[in-house]
Amino acid sequence: MITLKEALSLSKDELNKFKKELQTKIEANKDLNAYIDINDFGEGIPIAIKDNIQVKEWSVTSASKILQGYIAPYNATVINKLLDAGLSPFGRTNMDEFAMGSTTETSYYGKTLNPVNSDCVPGGSSGGSAAAVGAGLAIAALGSDTGGSIRQPAAYCGIVGMKPTYGRVSRYGLGAYASSLDQIGPMTQNVEDAAILYDIISGSDEKDSTNAMMDDKVSDKLNAERKLTIAVLPKYIENASEDIKEAYAKAIEALKAQGHTIVEKEMMDAKYDISAYYITATAEATTNLGRYDGIRYGNRVEGANLEETYYKTRSEGFGDEVKRRILLGNFVLSSGYYEAYYVKAQKTRHLIKDEYAKIFNEVDLILSPVAPSVAPKFGELANPMEMYLSDIYTISVNLAGLPALSLPVMKNKDGMPVGLQLIANAYDEQTLFDGSLSLEKEIAYK
Ligand code: GLN
Repeated sequence: MITLKEALSLSKDELNKFKKELQTKIEANKDLNAYIDINDFGEGIPIAIKDNIQVKEWSVTSASKILQGYIAPYNATVINKLLDAGLSPFGRTNMDEFAMGSTTETSYYGKTLNPVNSDCVPGGSSGGSAAAVGAGLAIAALGSDTGGSIRQPAAYCGIVGMKPTYGRVSRYGLGAYASSLDQIGPMTQNVEDAAILYDIISGSDEKDSTNAMMDDKVSDKLNAERKLTIAVLPKYIENASEDIKEAYAKAIEALKAQGHTIVEKEMMDAKYDISAYYITATAEATTNLGRYDGIRYGNRVEGANLEETYYKTRSEGFGDEVKRRILLGNFVLSSGYYEAYYVKAQKTRHLIKDEYAKIFNEVDLILSPVAPSVAPKFGELANPMEMYLSDIYTISVNLAGLPALSLPVMKNKDGMPVGLQLIANAYDEQTLFDGSLSLEKEIAYK
């Protein structure tokens, strides 16, 4: 598959020829279920879009039954930025319903398969975007990351996935899951493409009140030769699988070979991250999903009166995982429990932020696993709790609002990709991409 960088220099004829081939390839790989829908290919370079990002006049559903029939009335800011840069959204990729999940199994449209091994999950919630890029069915894609949903599927499918600093990329037109955590980001074949796509979609936007209003760019300044200080976390990785530990050791060697300085650091027990995240995310999700009442958006199931209409619409429109999150969110926000859960989670969030800040006083980047193992097989995660626990390495990054990039480091004995992530200080995307490029160069993942 050609890279985004290469695609940007194709002539019109070459691009048209490429689009025809791509269309044929997508047809031939329908079984993967990476795409929910293929729309008009448009004029520009085709790019795949997660089904929670609005493209004007297209259906957008967050892979939920409750949004069937909803047509986006306007473009998300990132879509306008893509169009301005000569890229055309052409396909909506599959995802976990409302981006809640780690496997893309909760989609109303059925599960997506991992392109490396179809018995395995592609990860989630941006599993469709990761599978599309991993299978060569897209040059690049957009995903969204609330607690790992770009980085983890990228790691499972052997591609690059990047979560920007909170506020770098406008959330205007993104279906909200947990507003203080959500960020849109690039999913690409390599680090340089991620930097190019990040430059295109990031920047100031008055339509998003949490936007950082910063417009500095990274891709024309990429420098893999910079010598950085990188923290590794020997204790933190103790519970990861042997594959992850092996990749971690390999990456440390590669970083040393590139001339970086490695220092050992410790972080507090990541079990607190899980609690703080699942309280914060479900509390915000409950609030955000309140708007899907059958009156204003999408699907409606008529009842005898308004209350029954709400009840029936939401009962039939939401899937089990979404309902579980709504119940959890209402619980942690309810009077009597608010102080015990929600307030405590916010305090823990501050501790996590402070801990990162302390480490970034001394280092440029942190090397961390993305997930505790390679992509599990379908059905391998026995219950929701096990799924939540598998987010252990990604969610603190969202709680602290930091940028991070997941890239493939090796394949295990079964040929499954193993990804790791580099984490940078807030707004230091330049260092994140420079360090990632240097690691990618040294390990040469095939
Ligand atoms: N797996 C996490 C969750 O279910 C993260 C999802 C995401 O980043 N959108 O909440």
